Amino acid sequence: MRRRIVLSALVLTGLLSIAVGAAQQAPPAGRAAGPLGGTPSVDNLQVQKLTDNLYVLGGGGGNTAVFITANGVVLVDTKVSGWGQPIIDKLKTLTPKPVTTIINTHTHFDHVNGNAEFPTTVDIVTSENTKHLMENWQPVYGVQLDSSTPFKTNGGRGLPKRTFKDRMTLGSGADEVDLFFHGPAHTGGDTWVVFKAARVMHAGDAFAGKNAPIMDMNNGGSAVHYAETIAKAAQTPNVDRVITGHSTVMTMADLKQFGEFNGDFVRDAQAAKKAGKTIDQFVAEWSVPAKYTGYTTPAANARGQWKSNAEVVWADK
Ligand SMILES: [Zn+2]
Repeated sequence: MRRRIVLSALVLTGLLSIAVGAAQQAPPAGRAAGPLGGTPSVDNLQVQKLTDNLYVLGGGGGNTAVFITANGVVLVDTKVSGWGQPIIDKLKTLTPKPVTTIINTHTHFDHVNGNAEFPTTVDIVTSENTKHLMENWQPVYGVQLDSSTPFKTNGGRGLPKRTFKDRMTLGSGADEVDLFFHGPAHTGGDTWVVFKAARVMHAGDAFAGKNAPIMDMNNGGSAVHYAETIAKAAQTPNVDRVITGHSTVMTMADLKQFGEFNGDFVRDAQAAKKAGKTIDQFVAEWSVPAKYTGYTTPAANARGQWKSNAEVVWADK
């Protein structure tokens, strides 16, 4: 059954830090996954340089991409509330240019709440579905969550100004950024952001690294479509590196495998359901197939994400 507990923002932040730390632990090699929450501070943001004008800021929620164009900075995702100003302060160490555009990969609080802390002149772009979800906020399925959102009490500051259905291109030449919606997975509005010249894609939480993703059926996420959505994204041409929502930067081969992994999980869950098993039986019996080396096992997954995802399969979402 759904476990929804209303918590204070403070308790929530601590809880999620623990939960995500356990569930989305980074692979042994590479940069450690940024914790959710923590104290908003410029010193608690970690900078990873991908190219001369493309960076990842870890810490404070989801991974933020920083793309420095001729006219200003394009940001992808703005972390939990309180991290907008630390992001702005950290940018000053990278470029004198102002933020001109924010793109949100999806509706979740740890990727969008910081929007409200940027100047109102900044353009904000999301998929149509993500705008709808941001305006009609629901708690993340399977994650105990505070039911507040800054956009309800601040007059809508930080909500998207421009949207796209399936595809949009921003900028041109060396500054081109391509946005794609390939269907539901983590949420119903997951956007894939391609920095064309850098051959880098930001996947947001649709790509959870070598971990079970959240299939957030409260916000249009889908188990039954997860694998096909990831397979489409993994066919994006001319991309070498993929920024994940909370884990390390990975490859397109990793993304393709992640799609297959979720396809196997969902297929096995559907078979168990058809065989009359309960969700608890399925979760107790299921193990990560051996070919998925390095993937988090159910026993190591403190959040019970396998069970949540099985619930989404059982609901035929
Ligand atoms: Zn998310």
